[in-house]
Amino acid sequence: MGTAGIMTACSGEVSKESDAIALVGATVIDGTGADAIKNALIIVEGDRITCAGDKESCLIPEGAIIIDLTGKYVTPGLVDSHIHFGQTGWLDGRPDGVNVGGRYPYEDVVADLRDHPETRYRSYLCSGVTAVYDVGGFPWTIGLKEGAENNTAAPHIAAAGPLVSHAGRLIMSAGGESTFIMLTSEDVGIEAVRQIKSWGADAVKVWFLAPSEEDRAEIDARFMAVAKEAKAQGINLIVHATTYREAKIAVDAGAHMLVHSVTNQPVDDDFITAMKASGTFYAPTLFAGANWGMAIAAAGLQFVPIIDDPNGCVDPATREKLLSAPEQNEYVLFETSQEIFQAGLARNEVALQLMNENLKRVHDEGIPVVMATDAGNPMTLHGVSVYAEMEGMQAAGLTPREVIVAATQTGARVMGREKDFGTLEAGKIADLIVLSENPLEDVSTFRSIMQVMRAGKMHDIADLSWNSLDVPD
Ligand SMILES: [Zn+2]
Repeated sequence: MGTAGIMTACSGEVSKESDAIALVGATVIDGTGADAIKNALIIVEGDRITCAGDKESCLIPEGAIIIDLTGKYVTPGLVDSHIHFGQTGWLDGRPDGVNVGGRYPYEDVVADLRDHPETRYRSYLCSGVTAVYDVGGFPWTIGLKEGAENNTAAPHIAAAGPLVSHAGRLIMSAGGESTFIMLTSEDVGIEAVRQIKSWGADAVKVWFLAPSEEDRAEIDARFMAVAKEAKAQGINLIVHATTYREAKIAVDAGAHMLVHSVTNQPVDDDFITAMKASGTFYAPTLFAGANWGMAIAAAGLQFVPIIDDPNGCVDPATREKLLSAPEQNEYVLFETSQEIFQAGLARNEVALQLMNENLKRVHDEGIPVVMATDAGNPMTLHGVSVYAEMEGMQAAGLTPREVIVAATQTGARVMGREKDFGTLEAGKIADLIVLSENPLEDVSTFRSIMQVMRAGKMHDIADLSWNSLDVPD
């Protein structure tokens, strides 16, 4: 039903069986960057928003269910533009880093991730995230898209499938599939693009780690072969390149998204010009690296890490893995000490400063910035990581309003889904969240989430939370 339904409501001809929902009285921040609408009205019919505006601009269809949101704040559902369904949020999903397979066999870990994605889906919705971009993993991650799309208990998914890289990690193979396609030649790269496209992926992801100087010419040529074939096949190219040189090559080659910050030097005018020419999106992922270090330190130095989970959205199995970090000490095979840990924290501070400056610069220059956590990596937990990431973007100098646009409308754009979601406008899928505090004052208020609607289905966060399973002392 479109506007016609609303007009008939006005003339009193609408069916009394209306399945419409009217969200009444909230302050609405629509995700476009426009001013908030006070005392707003959002009409949802089926899975769609049919009207969103002030009290005067929408009519409530007869028989609609009225939800009074006076004093509350409504934004679009959040989009996390960098996640991995093939990783758990703990070390057990990254045997290439610290192999805790003796405690959590990797085959079992991956089988659970593959067979029970609903656990991750619940963590996302519970955190207000209604769409995610899986930017690299097993081929089965591409297969999650279809089932999630019309599932009101799952986020929308875009997925890239296996990462193409000269520096791939074959240990990340399980269930007869691999996370990586080894980029051993230009021909292999071309074939990889065709294969990934045939699997129905939304993009080809290249893990473009800086090659050694003597390998540069060869590795660059392989990268360019992939980029050229992606263009020829009409599939987006997304690139992990945290070093300026490789990131610039990726942007010049037309990359759709840089999935991380440039972390080794300030971006410059050449870089900005190239990003504008290619229309490249920039995903800062401010904390994934530091979180990795925290996970290793927790196991290596035997402390229980802090789980930043205000609403109980981390599933019990993942929670148990983090809480038992001290028992996983035996798997950390490299030297750890309080001194090494402290030095790592100091390095993270320096890296974050540079990431913040680069984020502010690209954003001020008008480059589209998305909110992106790299969830699935150790200590970067599915769903709940969006809070720290948005707060970090705000600390880097973006206004709350700008962070909200990055985390909604721009995320939908990078997924190629801006016609479907990302803003609260008539015709969009009804994906939205209800907060008790004002996000335009500070994005930390996303922690005050009370409800999430996905395709017209309203969920209370209390129902999605696993808190009720906690046994009080
Ligand atoms: Zn990642």
